[in-house]
Amino acid sequence: MESIIPLDLNFQGFPGVIAAYLLPHTHGAALVESGPGSTQDALQNALAVHGFLPADITDLFLTHIHLDHAGAAGWLANQGAHVYVHEAGAPHLLDPTKLLASARRIYGEHMDALWGEFLPVPADRLTALRDEDVVQVGRLCLRALDTPGHANHHMAYLFEDVIFSGDIGGVRVRGLETISVPMPPPELHLEKWRQSAARLAALPAQRIAPTHFGLYSDPANHLARLVSRLEAISSWIEQAMPSNPAPDQLEHAYTAWVQEQDRSAGLSAEQSQAVESVNPAYMSAAGIQRYWQKIRQAKAET
Ligand SMILES: [Zn+2]
Repeated sequence: MESIIPLDLNFQGFPGVIAAYLLPHTHGAALVESGPGSTQDALQNALAVHGFLPADITDLFLTHIHLDHAGAAGWLANQGAHVYVHEAGAPHLLDPTKLLASARRIYGEHMDALWGEFLPVPADRLTALRDEDVVQVGRLCLRALDTPGHANHHMAYLFEDVIFSGDIGGVRVRGLETISVPMPPPELHLEKWRQSAARLAALPAQRIAPTHFGLYSDPANHLARLVSRLEAISSWIEQAMPSNPAPDQLEHAYTAWVQEQDRSAGLSAEQSQAVESVNPAYMSAAGIQRYWQKIRQAKAET
């Protein structure tokens, strides 16, 4: 069995919230996720601990193009890594202008401090993946699984007995049982999310590795808890959204609900902050608003 080394990128000073996964092979290593541009130094240091330079990364597999997963992809590509990404995400790596403008609408003045630089990936270093594509890197073999719900350009990867679940497997900060659901605009789609979760649950996997964070040996249990959290969110949305709350009211109400969930799960204030660092409630509130208008109200009108 090949080894998988989780690298902790210490995002915003929080340990155990953003991972890149190192897969050594005979002539270097592959990486699943690059992390954001703001943690390039942390990535370089974590690689060095295991005897690797950034230039030793031959292949980089991205679950999707959000800044916390793919921000350092261009930087690694410039040092020789070949990048794999969902075909719908590939154009945004070649030219990140629109992606960055959309992220700036969510993060505003905090954008640069949070995410750092996001360099484009050169076309000759990029492969666009489709559902069920299989990529072989030396002895390593990864199978791409189109898994929408969090974003339309999301791939999970099956590698031996491990699912690299990106964000579609939810957020499970290191050391916590709680699974939370990151729901950014504009492509959040809860029905697709449930289908993707069911697809992952049917895989022959013994472990699951969400990008946020770690390698867990209870994939069935993990995914069952994800589904129950999705159900709780759906019920909350059905109760909160018909009155069409203003964006700030929605953010306030959703933040209060998340805090109540955290409290009843026994999370400390510090643990809640760690979750919030990679899954801010204001981001999910914006995603819920967009989902409600674009998907639910559109469906109700037809
Ligand atoms: Zn994401």
